Amino acid sequence: MGKIVAVTNQKGGVGKTTTAINLAASLAFAERRVLLVDIDPQGNLTSGVGQKGKAGPGGTIYEALTAIEPVTDPRPFIIPTGVDHLSLIPSNRNLTGAEIEMVPLAHREERLRMFLASVRGEFDYIFVDCPPSLGLLTLNALVAADAALIPLHCEYFALEGLADLVGTMRRVRVALNPGLDIEGVLLTMFDDRTNLGQQVASDVRQFFKEKVFRTVIPRNIRLGEAPSHGMPVMLYDVKSRGAEAYLALAREMLERSAA
Ligand code: ATP
Ligand code: MG
Repeated sequence: MGKIVAVTNQKGGVGKTTTAINLAASLAFAERRVLLVDIDPQGNLTSGVGQKGKAGPGGTIYEALTAIEPVTDPRPFIIPTGVDHLSLIPSNRNLTGAEIEMVPLAHREERLRMFLASVRGEFDYIFVDCPPSLGLLTLNALVAADAALIPLHCEYFALEGLADLVGTMRRVRVALNPGLDIEGVLLTMFDDRTNLGQQVASDVRQFFKEKVFRTVIPRNIRLGEAPSHGMPVMLYDVKSRGAEAYLALAREMLERSAA
C-alpha cells in the first residue's frame, strides 16, 4: 500500500511545493512509483513539473473534489510528468472555488481520501501539496494522509502558527483519521552563514526532537530557478546543492521507513 504524505504548513512560501516536487522526483529516480497531487489553487506544483494547463480526461483535482457524488476512480485524472515513475493529478485556478463549493457536499472532509483509496496500491508514495491555509482543502489532505511532512523556513517566525497546525492535526486524529502521523519536520532555505538560521534550527530540533529530518535543505538558487523550466532540480542541475539535498532527503526517508 502506498503511503500518502501531506506536505503542509499554513504559512506561505516555506518550501512546500519545492519539497513535494523534488522529494517526489528523488524517490522516482530511486525507481519508487510516485504520484503528486496538487490541491493548491495556485497550481505551482502543476507548473513546476511542466504541466500547467494540462488535465486528464476526467479533469483536474477541482472536478474530482467538487462532483455531487464522491469520485472514487482517480485514474482518468492522472497524467504523466517528464520524469519516469512520476505521475501527477493537476490543479488550476478553478480550485479557488472548491473551499466554498464543497461545504454543502456529503463527505466534504473525506473527498480526497475516498478519491485516492483505489490507487494506493499502484504507487509507493503519494504526495499531496497543500495550499497555505488550514481550510477544507488542507483538511482533506490531513484526513487522506498517513503522515504530514512539515517544511519550516529557517527564519525568525518559523515556529509561529505551528500550534494551529498541530492543533488541527490533533482534531483530525480524534474525529476523522486516528492514524495520522508526522512523517517529519524539514528545515528549508537554511543559510549556514547566519546565526539566526542556526538558532532557529536548534529551537526546532528542541521542540520536535527526532521528528526533524537530519537532512537540511540549503538556500540554493537552482531550487528557485528549476520550476520556471518546469522540471525538478535534479533534471535542471543535478550537481547543485539543492539537488544533492533532496536526494539525501529521499535516502533518509527510505532508511526511516526500512528501520
Ligand atoms: P505557498 O505557501 O505559496 O504554496 P510554498 O510553501 O509551496 O509556498 P515554495 O513555492 O516551495 O513554497 O517556495 C517559495 C519560493 O521560494 C519559491 O519561489 C521557490 O522557488 C523558492 N524556494 C523554495 N525553497 C528554496 C530553497 N531551498 N532555496 C532557494 N529558493 C527556494
Ligand atoms: Mg506551494
